[in-house]
Amino acid sequence: MTIIISEILFEPTFECNLRCKYCYLGNARKQRRTTDWSYVTDAARRLTDKFLAEDYRVRNVLYHGAEVTVLPPEVLADVCNIFDEIAPDDYGFQAIQTNGTLITPEYIETFESRLHDGIRLHYSISVDSPEKFNDTMRGRGTYEKAMANARNLLKKGYPVHLFGCFTPEMFAHLDDMKSWIQARQAEGFIWKFQIASAPFNLSDEQQVKLAYWLDENDWIRRFNTLVPEMCGNFGNECDVNHFCADGLYPPCDRQTGEIVPLWLDKPVSRLLEMRQGAFAGTPTSPQCQYCPVRPVCHSGCPKFRVDGRAVDCMLKKTIYRIRANKLGIPMHKAIKLYQGTSNFNPPNDGIPTIAEIRRKGA
Ligand code: SF4
Ligand code: SF4
Repeated sequence: MTIIISEILFEPTFECNLRCKYCYLGNARKQRRTTDWSYVTDAARRLTDKFLAEDYRVRNVLYHGAEVTVLPPEVLADVCNIFDEIAPDDYGFQAIQTNGTLITPEYIETFESRLHDGIRLHYSISVDSPEKFNDTMRGRGTYEKAMANARNLLKKGYPVHLFGCFTPEMFAHLDDMKSWIQARQAEGFIWKFQIASAPFNLSDEQQVKLAYWLDENDWIRRFNTLVPEMCGNFGNECDVNHFCADGLYPPCDRQTGEIVPLWLDKPVSRLLEMRQGAFAGTPTSPQCQYCPVRPVCHSGCPKFRVDGRAVDCMLKKTIYRIRANKLGIPMHKAIKLYQGTSNFNPPNDGIPTIAEIRRKGA
């Protein structure tokens, strides 16, 4: 019987063209050096064959980090075409997480020209606002490049998420941020955000302020942690399947100190089993024990805790309190309401096929 997995992450490289200050990869991030990328297509082929042989299908293949688009467009297209073979019959889609600086119209033209007609693809571009914060964290000129490329994708008809990271410095500029977000949403972008990890994380006080600001602007749903299937909501029981093209099968891309087995020689069923409980026993705060938010937080991502609490603990608590008060219902009911539907990925109908994008011909 076919088993459908909701998502896998495929990491083709640890190389990146940028040096962002808050990069989650730390010392694992590499400079651009590779010229022969055949190992990536070989890995995609080998992994896809494993899934097919054991009758697994994958709803969403997410290409992630360090920077996927350091791959030549021809290679990235070949990889997408290979993984398209494990899309379920009813629907499947792929997503590219990128800093957006390398996906010029020329890159996209070559990439798209090689993709299979039936592939559905969306982009998630990491960009911060206001512009000067983006460039401080990610490098001068990166905002302008990323946004120009993002607009090209939007014009072509792809769903484009702009994914930002809140840091303490942004608090003096909430009005600027508000105008920026409103303007981007009016253009057709889907804005989403998370809170930066330590040492760029927000204090409890700032998180409370942010929660009220989000509520005022009706942007609570833009907060990625409220997405039911977000791995961080499962705490130490998080369960992400992350395959690196070099053969590693780390429990997560936040890999530091964990055992990192190879996927090359193991069946998929065994790998999924091995991933279970990879973070069991990671310490949590005593505060979490009787916290009403615990059922949907579980102390958050085990790699990004501050004193045993989720990096966005106070933001979550405040958001649910605000919603419960407004609706006049108990907090546990407000939590259920907010966890009821996912807003992480656009519905299938919202992602056009490559054939449809080509027909549009923008
Ligand atoms: S360690 Fe954190 S980011 Fe990684 S899979 Fe677990 S919850 Fe997700
Ligand atoms: S919201 Fe905070 S206190 Fe509650 S479970 Fe999550 S991290 Fe713990």
